Amino acid sequence: VTVLAVWALAVAAGCGPLRPPATDATAAKRNVILLVGDGLGATALTMARNYHLGAAGRLEIDRLPVTGSCTTWAVEEDDPTRPDYVTDSSSSATAMATGRKTSNRRVSTEPGTDAPLATILEQARRAGYRTGLVSTAHLADATPAAFAAHVNYRWCFDPAMMAACPTFAKMSGGPGSIVEQMIDVRPDVLLGGGAASFAQRIPAGTHAGHTVLDAAAEAGYRVVTTAAELAVVEAGSPVLGLFAADNFTPAWEGEAASFPPGRPQRCRAAQIPEAQPGLVPMLEAALRLLDAEAGPGFFLMAEAAMIDKQAHAADACGQIGETIELDRAVAVARRFAELHPGTLLIVVGDHDHAPVIVDTRYAVVAPGVTTTLETVEGASMTIGYATSTFTYKQQHSGAPVPVFSLGPDAEALDGLVDHTDIYRVMARRLGVGPAGRAAGDGPP
Ligand SMILES: [Zn+2]
Repeated sequence: VTVLAVWALAVAAGCGPLRPPATDATAAKRNVILLVGDGLGATALTMARNYHLGAAGRLEIDRLPVTGSCTTWAVEEDDPTRPDYVTDSSSSATAMATGRKTSNRRVSTEPGTDAPLATILEQARRAGYRTGLVSTAHLADATPAAFAAHVNYRWCFDPAMMAACPTFAKMSGGPGSIVEQMIDVRPDVLLGGGAASFAQRIPAGTHAGHTVLDAAAEAGYRVVTTAAELAVVEAGSPVLGLFAADNFTPAWEGEAASFPPGRPQRCRAAQIPEAQPGLVPMLEAALRLLDAEAGPGFFLMAEAAMIDKQAHAADACGQIGETIELDRAVAVARRFAELHPGTLLIVVGDHDHAPVIVDTRYAVVAPGVTTTLETVEGASMTIGYATSTFTYKQQHSGAPVPVFSLGPDAEALDGLVDHTDIYRVMARRLGVGPAGRAAGDGPP
């Protein structure tokens, strides 16, 4: 029996974590669920829709009531008044987490000065909300990192990787690597990959000589490492779930994109390590844990990270499988939001990506590499990746990404918005952060 089935039974019985709000206090809770598809551009979404449901099909994401378009630019490090039209995940996550634009590779710090930018998670936590971060990547990867850490270079994951940002290292009196800072910020729920980084020793400061995992335990975290443990972990203390040494194994796989083109293919389910939960069980556990206790509500960011990583690798099946996982997570989040009317649900990509759905009939040869998938409709869909001469180094694109939302304040994300507007709408819902900045502000 799956966790979801147990929940469904519990809901039917009028009890359990998804029960309808029974009291005024529950109904008054304010929650924000931000679901980020890393690299979820309109093309990634269309690939999944065509392949899985057909061109006229509708994903759960498509059915959310408010649909907008979100610009995604970064700014230049040396002159933050100048735009950088193609963002990476750390800059775009900073915009969503802080309402401020920064330069690529920065994590919630200001260009030029390294000054920390306050995040919605930190502000929510200070206001008494419960908080959570979930990712199918390493927990120190750019998107989760930007909500609970401040560093000038996104790859400063752990104590062994601090050579690139020495002023942030504990050895020089800094706040430490991303995983160290994350434990210090102490969100109630941290679920994802990156166990190898948490096993490292902290070189200086209060926890000198201890591993990051030791520091987490000292901060009160209960640590779980398998999907089975996650399904039964109880609220009462913060939960750190580490289910992979680095990133998760993507759910689907297929033949690599190639030149010359290969034969049309159907994607197949990948061999997933038994300990690794999917995005859906992680989201279910996070919602259960965050909603379990009294208080004003919660802020949760959950990321389907492998859409981006498989797009970099020109792997259409890997991208589509992770997009379908995200879509299933959207169904779970929507059900929760409908039973908890104070909940604002936002689903958005952090940047567009390399793939293009191409017509190959008239091209003598398509540039780059291609892969042709047989869709559920029995039609052929050819995906081209041509943003790099190296198959496995495909690049982001600067196009806007779709944004979908439901719940109180969702209508503010109608039309053309920016990632910084997502911060403002979430902050307004939770009543945190500086009020009064107009939507669509230019660079800071
Ligand atoms: Zn990327």
